[in-house]
Amino acid sequence: MVIEYRGRLQEIRRDLDAHRDAIDQRYTEVLGYERARKVYEASERLLTPESFLGDIDELRQATGSDFPHDTANKLGAGVHADFVIDEHGYIKGNPTVHTAPFFYISEAGFEASSYRHTNRPLASYVHEYNHFIFYLLQEPPLYLMDFFAVDGITPGKTFHLDIFMKEMEGRNLSPSDVANIMKRYAVFGMMKDSHERATEILDRQILGSIGIDIPLEWRGKNRIYMIMRSPLGNIVFPMGGDPFASSTDEEVVENMIGWVESLDFRSSDPYFTNLLGSLKGVRIRRHAVNHLEELEKRLERRNKRGN
Ligand SMILES: [Zn+2]
Repeated sequence: MVIEYRGRLQEIRRDLDAHRDAIDQRYTEVLGYERARKVYEASERLLTPESFLGDIDELRQATGSDFPHDTANKLGAGVHADFVIDEHGYIKGNPTVHTAPFFYISEAGFEASSYRHTNRPLASYVHEYNHFIFYLLQEPPLYLMDFFAVDGITPGKTFHLDIFMKEMEGRNLSPSDVANIMKRYAVFGMMKDSHERATEILDRQILGSIGIDIPLEWRGKNRIYMIMRSPLGNIVFPMGGDPFASSTDEEVVENMIGWVESLDFRSSDPYFTNLLGSLKGVRIRRHAVNHLEELEKRLERRNKRGN
C-alpha cells in the first residue's frame, strides 16, 4: 500500500477504496519498489487521523493563521528548528529540523483547488499526497524552503512589484540591497514554480491509472519571463511555460527527488550557492503531528530550564 488517507471525507475514502490497487501499482512503477515501500512505511508512521484537518477552523486553530474560507486543499508542515540562516546563506545554530506533515482536505478546499474540474476530490488529494511524497523523499524537503528564507523574502507568495516595494519602504535599504532581495525572490520563485510543476507531472502519471486526465497545457511550451532592470543587472522572473522542457516526465520526478544536486537554480548571488551547501548539512527528523507537539513542549521546558 502506498497511498493512505485517514481523513473524514467519505467521497475520497470511497473513491480510494475502489481504486487503491491501480494507484498503488502505478506508484510502484513510477517510484520503484524501494521508494514505494519507503513512502508506505513513512505514511504509516507519520499520518494519523490528527494529520488530517477537515475544515477551515481546524486549519486556523492548528496554524494560528487566519486562512480565508476559499483556501484550497493543501499539505502543510509544522517545523521546529533552532537555527537561523544568515545574510550570506550560512546556517547559524543546531542544523536539526524537526518537522511534521499535515493535510488540509475538505469539500470547500476541493472547490477552491485547481483540480475541481475533475469532479473527483481524490484527484486533489493525490496532488497533495504527491507533495507529501516529495517531502518524504527529498533531503531536505524543498517544501521547507519557506522556513529557510531570509528576512525580507516570503517565497510562498507570488511576486508583485507594488506589494514588494511597499514592504521595502521605510527599511532604509540602498537600491542594490533592494535589487539583491528581488533577485532572491526570483530564485525562490523559480524553486517554488519547479516544485509545483513537477508535482503536477507526477499527478498526471498517477491519476492516468484511474482515468483522470491532467492535461498540463504548459508542458513543452517555451518559458515566458518578466525581465526587470536593476542596479545589479537584469532580474528574471519566470511567468509561464515549461521549466523542464528538455526532460521526460520520469526525469522530472527523479530530478525533483534529488533537487539539491540535480536542479540548477543558478544565480550570480553567492547566497544561493552557500544556502544550498548549508542545506546539505541539515538533518531532517520527520514526526507525526502529535509527536511534534509533545517534542516542542519538551524542548520548551528544557529551554526554560536554561539548557
Ligand atoms: Zn500544489
